[in-house]
Amino acid sequence: MADIIQLLPDHVANQIAAGEVVQRPSSVVKELLENAIDAGANHIKLIIKDAGKTLIQVVDNGKGMSVTDARLSFERHATSKIKTADDLFDLHTKGFRGEALASIAAIAHVELKTKQAGEDIGTQINIEGSEVVSQEAVAVPNGTSLSVKNLFFNIPARRNFLKSNTVETRHIIDEFNRVTLAHPNIGFTMHHNGSEIFNLSISNKRQRLVNVFGSKTNEKLVPVEENTEVLNISGFVCKPEFAKKTRGEQFFFVNDRFIKSSYLNHAINGAFEGLLREGTHASYFLYLEVDPKTIDINIHPTKTEIKFDDEHTLYALLKSAVKHSLGQFNIAPVLDFDRDGNMDTPYNFKDREASNPVIEVDRSFNPFKEEKAVSNKGMSTTFKKEPVTSWESLYVGLESKSNDDTDTFSQMQFESEEVTPSIFDDDQNANKTFQLHNKYIVNTIKSGMLMIDQHRAHQRVLYEQFLQHITVKEAVSQQLLFPLALEFTNSEVAILDSLKEQLEQTGFVFSKLEKNEVEITGVPVSIVESNVSAVLEQLINDIENEVPDSHFSQTDLLAKSMAKSLAIKTGQRLTVQEQEHLVNSLFACKEPSISPTNKATFITMRVEDIDHKFN
Ligand code: ADP
Ligand code: MG
Repeated sequence: MADIIQLLPDHVANQIAAGEVVQRPSSVVKELLENAIDAGANHIKLIIKDAGKTLIQVVDNGKGMSVTDARLSFERHATSKIKTADDLFDLHTKGFRGEALASIAAIAHVELKTKQAGEDIGTQINIEGSEVVSQEAVAVPNGTSLSVKNLFFNIPARRNFLKSNTVETRHIIDEFNRVTLAHPNIGFTMHHNGSEIFNLSISNKRQRLVNVFGSKTNEKLVPVEENTEVLNISGFVCKPEFAKKTRGEQFFFVNDRFIKSSYLNHAINGAFEGLLREGTHASYFLYLEVDPKTIDINIHPTKTEIKFDDEHTLYALLKSAVKHSLGQFNIAPVLDFDRDGNMDTPYNFKDREASNPVIEVDRSFNPFKEEKAVSNKGMSTTFKKEPVTSWESLYVGLESKSNDDTDTFSQMQFESEEVTPSIFDDDQNANKTFQLHNKYIVNTIKSGMLMIDQHRAHQRVLYEQFLQHITVKEAVSQQLLFPLALEFTNSEVAILDSLKEQLEQTGFVFSKLEKNEVEITGVPVSIVESNVSAVLEQLINDIENEVPDSHFSQTDLLAKSMAKSLAIKTGQRLTVQEQEHLVNSLFACKEPSISPTNKATFITMRVEDIDHKFN
């Protein structure tokens, strides 16, 4: 039988390697930034277009490459960083595998411009899908500029697999943050679609953290410092009261390289034991320095996981160092957290008593504004200020043109085909609602009884309203008396910016949406001003935590997130009128029976079922 084994051509081998090294635009960003750092640059520019799908460019002022090196850098296993296998165990550079540029050049259009200091003339090379299309001498500044265009142009499956621009931008910013936090001694800028997102000047670790995460970060940080023979630890943990619901701000750097380690994370959790609210995670930015000979970085193509010779010792040292810092900075072991009952999910509800009504003073109350808002909604009473409940939001999206508020309910249009008002008991007296434990609305229907989860039902109502506003028609915006200035980190602003259009369709009006500065002059009618910041924070959080494999639609996520934030909470008392209105609005929905997160909004109990229980 003839021999059947052949060697793969280089460009095929490169594409295969690219599959491991380059998963998405952010992987390219990481590799290029790391090359710039290895080249000794002290200023690095990152330029992105369309979340990296159109362009990723990194410009550095590092040592540049000679003509021959420039050409060789795109060969597989071409590296200047190690010479022998022994060097693998004494790494002082980020790169060493010599496959990043070869892989990237196999799956994109790449343009390299580079010049060494002391040379008069530099080199430009253009490569498309591993093929050199041109090489020439050019006049360029010292350093290197590498542009990667049309990523995955020759692998449509990978290109189609990419997520929305919001998600891919998020990944890029994450990668950028990891690199910039590891290297405060290097200046970085980042531009996306022409606007500057970060401008980080050379600084120390603390300043860098503040520049990346916003000025509020400073007060949250507790320094950690421990020097031992095997390990030096420096950096910060965040005070427990600032713990986040997400694991977003957890950073380990080992010898200036961001790494992931669930084992070391466990050590930090141990140090925080008893200090964190349930469901929250400690934030930390910890820089470990170890002898390069005691670690193996070469266990993963993306180099984010490493193996330590003596993990147990590191674990113990880390845990005690963090514990010590928390103790020293007077973070008492038992903290009594103020709990906001409104934030509770239905599952935490059990055992809670109905609370006494609280008198709330709305400082932003303006009788003139109110008059306008109220008359907009067709209420006959002017100057009547409702306590801050979701009462007003129940009216949002109501199509009734009536000026008589007693008519509002009876004029409700039922759109749903399957569920018509006829399921309700015809006997007028019987059709009364009743609220059970400030959680469920109970209603009689022909066949028996209906129990509605108030929080989920209202989510469904708001979700459909938001979707409609975003996709079909513009929502009404309620103008704020004074512009509302909010503080977000640069990366959070980038997320808001990518959702700007949809947010405006729901009724938000942004007068400013730039670095560190967000100013809002109008909000959707369903939002009370004091709630705006929480709603947007939740939205950013939801976008950040978007499950990677879910079928992602920004609009859908936005509608879901806002509905979740604004829906009547479990534990909130509703008047009979409010209850009835919610029930009517729910059954006017297209899909009344499930919440936006696919959970039942109501259950029915037939008379027979009840009879059965009495048997
Ligand atoms: P590695 O970084 O693992 O060595 P790469 O494929 O990323 O492999 O880069 C190959 C080589 O190209 C590097 O070893 C380096 O010599 C050179 N190189 C890449 N980027 C730059 C840069 N920005 N400045 C100077 N030299 C560079
Ligand atoms: Mg490299």
